[in-house]
Amino acid sequence: MPNSKRPRPNYFWSMLTLKCPRCRRGGMFSNHSAYNLKHTLDMPESCPVCGQKMEPEVGFWYGTGYVSYALTVAISVATFIGSIILFHVTFMDNSVLWWLGINSVFLILIQPWLMRFSRTMYLYFFVRYDADYDAKEARKDFHH
Ligand SMILES: [Zn+2]
Repeated sequence: MPNSKRPRPNYFWSMLTLKCPRCRRGGMFSNHSAYNLKHTLDMPESCPVCGQKMEPEVGFWYGTGYVSYALTVAISVATFIGSIILFHVTFMDNSVLWWLGINSVFLILIQPWLMRFSRTMYLYFFVRYDADYDAKEARKDFHH
């Protein structure tokens, strides 16, 4: 089967499952669980499937702070709107404090996964899917 005819894994699903952006098959993190906290951000040097480098240059991951901040804000807005619709949370009584508390706990619980997801999303900004991922060598530089 020619490489270009291989099924192309879904963009968002690959991102959600923390797969390499180039082949969408190799895992971006060394450990399966994000909750092994000492190793949450351990990554292989390059993708085990296609050889894509995981940290293209020193300091590459500094930008992910902004990504995780933006995601945190987006998630909070979503849970707030959801709470208004489902639980009729209002500013008129202390129900908004309940939202604040539960949302904070939720954000702390998903933090390890969110840190991983931020890195994945960030790398997706720079690396495109390549159907010939195992026939061609991965590009060394990341600037388009
Ligand atoms: Zn890959």
